[in-house]
Formats: sequence, C-alpha cells, structure tokens
Amino acid sequence: MKFGFDIDDTLINLREHAFHIYNRKLNQNISLDVFHALTTMEIHEAFGLTKEEGGKLWTSLRDDIYYSDCAPFPHAREILHELVKQGHEVYYITARAKEHTERTRDWLIHNGFPVTDGHFFCGMSDTEKVHIIEELELDYYFDDKPAVLETLSQLPVKAYVKDRSYNQQLDLPRITSWEQLLEELKS
Ligand SMILES: [Mg+2]
Repeated sequence: MKFGFDIDDTLINLREHAFHIYNRKLNQNISLDVFHALTTMEIHEAFGLTKEEGGKLWTSLRDDIYYSDCAPFPHAREILHELVKQGHEVYYITARAKEHTERTRDWLIHNGFPVTDGHFFCGMSDTEKVHIIEELELDYYFDDKPAVLETLSQLPVKAYVKDRSYNQQLDLPRITSWEQLLEELKS
C-alpha cells in the first residue's frame, strides 16, 4: 500500500524546535507550557510578536530551524522503516518552499529517514497537496494541518491527523503517538 506523510509537525517536532530557537535569539525563557497551549500553528504569539514580526523572524531563522538538529517524534523513523520492510511505499509531501527541496530531502536521508527516488514532493501550496495525494493514489495520508486535511474529504485516502494543540477541532482518526501505529503494524 501507499503511505504519504507530511514532514513538519507530523514526523518531526519542528515548531517546538523553533520555539527553543526563538527563546535563544530573543533572549527569552518562555516555558513549554505556553507552547503546548498555543491554538495557532504560528508560534509568534507566545513571544508577544505581531503576525508580521513573527513572519519576518521565521523567515530570517528558517535555515537554522529547518537544518539544525530538529528531533523526529518518537518512533516516527521506526514506523517508516517498518512500512518499507513490509513492502509498502512511503511518500513525503511537504509544503516547504521549493528552494528547500534538495536540502530537505538530504536532511531526511542524513537523519535516518528512508527516502526512495521519486517519493519526495516539496514546494506545493497547502491546497495543492490534495492533487498530489490523488495522483499518487495514496491509501493513507498523515498531516497535522487543518487547512490540508480539510481538502481531502472527497478522496478515498484514509487521512489521519497528527495530534497537536491547534488541530483539536478536527474529527479524524488521530495519531497521538507513532508507537501505537507501530504496534498495530507489527501485530
Ligand atoms: Mg505539517
């Protein structure tokens, strides 16, 4: 079967990683409790920044956020390797900007994710993901972002939401821990 995955905040803990970088760059010490209570995907509110200030800061730090040592979620890598081992196809579909295609794929490989040629898609908008998912005829797709998941309801794909503070309103099967799915796959 074909399994598709978003990357940021689905497979890797990117916003929390960025939160630490913001604290460091802004010389602040905002606690993770604040992070976990955010109802927005954007993290700038926690630092008292406007949307515009937050956007500028994110852009200025983006390389550092993307290509330093962001942690994968527990068992995320293992589950992908288990899927490949069982003969399934694993696809990555990320809406990171196009200029980040090569480096993001390299980062995944360097960090132990299984990446097959032709199975990595980058640089589309949130609303374009649906077309790639449809063309690939994915059986399963995992994402954290409501604006993406809301576009998939007409497709036969089984969509799952990676549990995060800002997507609690979504009524979809929910991945709270990759370990659960790993256990299911192994049994
Ligand atoms: Mg994401």
